[in-house]
Amino acid sequence: MKHNFGAGPGILPQEVLKQAAAAVINFNGTGLSLLEISHRSAEFEAVLDEAVSLVKELFEVPSGYSVLFLQGGASTQFAMVPYNLLPEGGKAAYVESGVWANKALKEAKYFGTVDVVATSKESNFTYIPKDFEVPADAAYLHITSNNTIYGTQLQQFPSSPVPLVCDMSSDIFSRKVNVADFGLIYAGAQKNMGPAGVTLVIVKDDILGKVDRKIPAMFNYQTQIEGGSMYNTPPVFAIYVSMLTLNWLKAKGGVEAIEKDNLAKSKALYTEIDRNPLFKAVAVPEDRSHMNVCFVAENPEHEKPFLKLCDEKGIVGLKGHRSVGGFRASIYNALPITSVHVLIETMQEFAEKNK
Ligand code: PLP
Repeated sequence: MKHNFGAGPGILPQEVLKQAAAAVINFNGTGLSLLEISHRSAEFEAVLDEAVSLVKELFEVPSGYSVLFLQGGASTQFAMVPYNLLPEGGKAAYVESGVWANKALKEAKYFGTVDVVATSKESNFTYIPKDFEVPADAAYLHITSNNTIYGTQLQQFPSSPVPLVCDMSSDIFSRKVNVADFGLIYAGAQKNMGPAGVTLVIVKDDILGKVDRKIPAMFNYQTQIEGGSMYNTPPVFAIYVSMLTLNWLKAKGGVEAIEKDNLAKSKALYTEIDRNPLFKAVAVPEDRSHMNVCFVAENPEHEKPFLKLCDEKGIVGLKGHRSVGGFRASIYNALPITSVHVLIETMQEFAEKNK
């Protein structure tokens, strides 16, 4: 058995993979593959409806918000957000807490003025800047809830005088969030919600329609809302597997229950990193992520042999991002705590061998 600590695409529940595999051959007894049924068929419309209602239920989405399943990944949202929300000649506020936030703000510059209200670039993003003021005339404030590459996570969301836009790609559905505090939430599915190919957007309807520019249909939230995420052919497989994963989460007790499991996993791992003299955590303690645990070897020469030992134990996807180095244990919702225990035992065995 493999222990999949990969950052993205992330691990999916085994039972979801089995159901998805069966549906590729024969979808719900239709005698057709999920990949060949019409997206306008009653069978698929039921899947999309169920996926939307699971998002609403699990995240307690209040009325006045639309739930969309779009394409193009979170990276398309980097542009779609300012396209739809940043008026000509207006400005938007961004917190630069990592490379993804940087990519988001660069896209916004195509549409208006970008005010980077805070950055932690000088420390290679080992913390999330929290001391900033948001200009009252900004169209929105953009933040990243979990910085996948650096293993930092906002433990408390800032209060904002303007609509709060949040990239939740790497911690969506991992913890309870008050959706009413946000103007727009987006997330590429492939870490905690499903396979690559679909992007979740939860948008407050009344923040739309405030820009004058013409927006091409596919990039226009309003068109997507009116089309019920089916303006064009939707990514049927990715939506189906997301729906299965959300159902799996519901059966586990929902977001509150998984948050407890996630805290138990991250606590066990950080405790070992802090205790083990061979390893050191990357992020400052108060911003440590419960999804991506980044750590390095005190002695860089230990890096390769540790990864080799991990490989022997069936631990995969542990190598850190090239801009941070070391190791990154992504402990997304579907990763069982038993895999975390295997990693901890491997760290202990390695320390024993390298005393
Ligand atoms: N935002 C965050 C926080 C990410 O971790 C990633 C990818 O890892 C992205 C955005 C980009 O997502 P996508 O590949 O779906 O465009």
